Amino acid sequence: MKTLALVAHDQKKDAMVAWANAHKQALSAHRLYGTGTTGGRLRDETGLDVTPLKSGPLGGDAQLGAMIADGNLDGLIFFIDPLSAMPHDVDIKSLIRLAILYDTLLAVNEASATILLRGLVSDT
Ligand code: PGA
Repeated sequence: MKTLALVAHDQKKDAMVAWANAHKQALSAHRLYGTGTTGGRLRDETGLDVTPLKSGPLGGDAQLGAMIADGNLDGLIFFIDPLSAMPHDVDIKSLIRLAILYDTLLAVNEASATILLRGLVSDT
C-alpha cells in the first residue's frame, strides 16, 4: 500500500472524478489524500476513502509539500490546468519542486496518472 495524493485544478476536477471512478479498484488499494475540494468531490462522487486536506489556495498544496519533505507521501497525481492563472501559483511550484527534489512519483496529466497507477500494481 502506498500513500497517494490526488489534486485537480477546477477545470480538471470533472476529469479527475471520471478518472478516479475508472480506476477505483486500483486506487482503493492505497492510502489517499486530496486537497480540500478535490478530496471532497472524490469522496462524494467515487466513494473512495480520501482524506481531505485544506483547499489548495488555502494551503493544501503546502500541506502536501510538507508531507513529501517529511517522507510521508509516495506519489502525487496532480491534474494541472495549463490554461488558467492560479492565485496560489507559488504553492503549486513549491509542491512540484519538492516532488522532484525527493524523487516522489509524480503525474501531472491523466495519461501519466494511469501509467503511474499501473506501475504501482505491478510493483506489489
Ligand atoms: P482544491 O485545490 O482541490 O481545494 O480545489 C486544488 C488546487 O487548486 O491546488
